Amino acid sequence: MESKKGVLAVISGFSGVGKGTAVKELLKKYPYALSVSATTRSPRPGEVPGVSYHYITKEEFEKRIEENDFFEWARYVDNYYGTPKSFVMEKLEAGQDVILEIEAEGAFKVRSQYPQAMLIFMVPPSMEELRRRLVGRGTETPETVAKRLKKAAEEELDKAKLYDFLVINDELEACVEELHSVIHSRKGIKPVETDLLVNLEEEAKKLEL
Ligand code: ADP
Ligand code: 5GP
Repeated sequence: MESKKGVLAVISGFSGVGKGTAVKELLKKYPYALSVSATTRSPRPGEVPGVSYHYITKEEFEKRIEENDFFEWARYVDNYYGTPKSFVMEKLEAGQDVILEIEAEGAFKVRSQYPQAMLIFMVPPSMEELRRRLVGRGTETPETVAKRLKKAAEEELDKAKLYDFLVINDELEACVEELHSVIHSRKGIKPVETDLLVNLEEEAKKLEL
């Protein structure tokens, strides 16, 4: 008898919305396998090589693209990010549920080559709260914060509408439980069914970027 494959859940969301924080809590409670991406950006304070990301050079990244080593890859702001293929495939085959925390372009590449994947977009309760979190994290220069907010307001809000599910990260614990339940029940707030994105869009237009 063929064994059951794991679920592939893709989690995206604006920079600073709390994806990393929520996924870390999710993994403490439930046995998901988290794919560790490769990136050309430098480590932030507190990040651990091989755990947070595999930090590699631009040359190494481009070589691995050539070698077809990535399940998907994309450029985000000024760097490359990619999901190593072998880890994801091995875990899914072994029946483990796998989480990818990646941006939208990569998420859609995953959908086109693995249509069973579920695409979840995490949103903040408001754009002002997003700015507070991004600034509060204190890991980026004001220029990078501005670039990331601009990208959220001008590009990512539109892409969020194409996701399968929307999860709000207001209270962290509730968000973690919702992520788990969405992945397992495949039920959640569909972007097309909510005014939330429209409200965020209205607010984003008023943000001073
Ligand atoms: P991302 O991975 O989406 O870029 P992070 O996980 O780094 O975001 O979170 C950005 C900042 O927001 C961090 O300082 C984190 O502690 C904070 N944060 C995350 N979730 C919440 C929440 N539910 N309420 C308040 N602050 C949060
Ligand atoms: P950060 O620099 O804040 O860690 O990540 C920037 C963006 O890159 C986030 O939206 C994050 O989800 C995304 N990202 C991280 N790893 C990958 C990856 O392997 N592939 C893609 N496409 N995006 C990624």
